Amino acid sequence: MANVLLINKKNKNRLVFSDFRSDTVTKPTDEMRKAMANADVGDDVLGDDMTVKKLESLAAQLTGMKSALYVPSGTMANELAVKIWTHEGDEVILDSLSHIYFHELSAISIISRVLPRPLNYIDGIPNISEIENNISKPGPFSWKTSLICIENTHNHRGGMVVPLDSFKKLRKLCNNYQIKIHLDGARIFNAAAASGIPVTEFSRYVDSLMFCLSKGLSAPVGSILCGPHDFIEQARKWRRLLGGSMRQAGVIAAAGIVALSSMRERLGEDHARAKSLADEISKFPGICLDTSKIMTNIVIFKFEHPSITTHEFLQKLHSKKILALAMSEKEIRFVTHKDIYDSDIEKAILAFKRILT
Ligand SMILES: *Cc1c(COP(=O)(O)O)cnc(C)c1O
Repeated sequence: MANVLLINKKNKNRLVFSDFRSDTVTKPTDEMRKAMANADVGDDVLGDDMTVKKLESLAAQLTGMKSALYVPSGTMANELAVKIWTHEGDEVILDSLSHIYFHELSAISIISRVLPRPLNYIDGIPNISEIENNISKPGPFSWKTSLICIENTHNHRGGMVVPLDSFKKLRKLCNNYQIKIHLDGARIFNAAAASGIPVTEFSRYVDSLMFCLSKGLSAPVGSILCGPHDFIEQARKWRRLLGGSMRQAGVIAAAGIVALSSMRERLGEDHARAKSLADEISKFPGICLDTSKIMTNIVIFKFEHPSITTHEFLQKLHSKKILALAMSEKEIRFVTHKDIYDSDIEKAILAFKRILT
């Protein structure tokens, strides 16, 4: 992959590779770079960085949550939430393909020492009666279920939007059992753009919410954890403990402000491109893809070709200057984002055609 960087560096204005691996590859915009250069900064650990404060209050306002905290990564935001909502030995119900369970190196077991209870949220949607059957009550053999996690949009389940109704039902259940809900909303603004439902509607039904600035919103670094005031003050302490408090973080937070102010509106473009990519590639042999489930900027398909393996296919795409990611032995993910243009979609479709037919 080293040559990717080299080539990009030489041709600064034109990306030679069409990089569909993730929306995390988005480079900051010129407006972000200007804001970063001019950011008013201070020591955020001492509470002096006005740009970080501004970003946090903007995030709280846009999500409808009481308070917000700027953290280095989405993973840290999720891990802070689990840490604060649980005690050692508690159980956490989550989806078996969720980011928290599947992509965070068992961190909830290491940092919070909780027991994950993974269920299958088909299409990202929690099955309320199945969840109820899996709630542990305090007794001789278990502590208790103290947290349920939900992900919207759902990355590993193809960027699907979890409907608002699921949130309402889950809230009702959790109120009955006094269980907290954490929303991994890494791409919650994609969910809002695709469904027309504002983030403030989804957030009404959860206790905490995290989202990434560094994905489709295209900021270089950072995520935001949102929740009640006392929760955020505890999160601030645990961020420190985990080594995630930052000093003149306003330099990167400035890009986050631009991301929140001007990059949400264009997410629909990414969704339209993902849909047109999915519609075309689903016609080729070896691609198993239900295009009716493509709702946002993620396209995951099963690759089952009689003569080419997933790895070989990705290599062939690479030789045609197209990058995508293997999600498993037989699953490939394409993600659209601000640095993917119509011409990249056409290039990808042509490459599929050449390789597969
Ligand atoms: C990317 C992502 C995260 C974590 O983000 P990092 O900043 O890479 O740690 C968490 N949840 C979901 C659903 C994601 O897609």
